[in-house]
Amino acid sequence: MDSHCHLDFASFDVDRQQVIENCAQLGIDKLVVPGTQASSWLGLLQLSQQYSAIKPALGLHPYFLQHFQPKDYALLTQWLSQFSDSVTAVGEIGLDHVIDISPEQQMEVFIQQLHIADDFNLPVILHHRHSHNDLIKTLKQQRFKWGGIVHAFSGSLYEANTYIELGFKLGVGGVITYPRARKTRDVVSQLPLSSLVLETDSPDMPPRGKQGLRNSPQNLILILDELSHLRQESTDEIIKQCRQNVLSTLKNIS
Ligand SMILES: [Zn+2]
Repeated sequence: MDSHCHLDFASFDVDRQQVIENCAQLGIDKLVVPGTQASSWLGLLQLSQQYSAIKPALGLHPYFLQHFQPKDYALLTQWLSQFSDSVTAVGEIGLDHVIDISPEQQMEVFIQQLHIADDFNLPVILHHRHSHNDLIKTLKQQRFKWGGIVHAFSGSLYEANTYIELGFKLGVGGVITYPRARKTRDVVSQLPLSSLVLETDSPDMPPRGKQGLRNSPQNLILILDELSHLRQESTDEIIKQCRQNVLSTLKNIS
């Protein structure tokens, strides 16, 4: 199971069905696809009805906030009610301290979406970049209790453990296939397997050997092999436990 890929993006328009079929042949039978902006939610929900492998989340990603409108909150609430039997989480939401969008606006939209997730008893899928301190502080201040997934985790062992205490799993992606990512490789080797989930973040973050190419959920196998090597655990054991971790964290996936 790929716990994070953007299969609704236009770069998959040409061969989405083929990608899904290729994944199924590899045993990757579920693809969690987080939403990014209000204008893409309906298309994502329709894809999830067309392809049973696609498991949608809905949210406002900080990258896309230039398109944000206050009425998006009402729309989010509406779709979460209407698709309460298929939406897995509120996401992808979070804070990004690298992009040129005001931290105040990002924080406001993040907190509003935590409230909406809370209203629906839903977990969240978190985006971070140079923002662990603010994310952790905000989750604690808001007493957010539904947990979720910290997508593409990179950070310290201490930060990882803090998220785990807050009910989160940590997304392990293509970054671990690069030897230069020593810190992240170390941290994911040390954490309990019960706190990890596998993800590709396709079409972004291609693993080593696939640089410059569109990333695709089939590459989950490369991440799995690397994690197996790093942790000295069998791929079967990792697949089984990571799958269980997603099932116990996100909604509407069985
Ligand atoms: Zn993403």
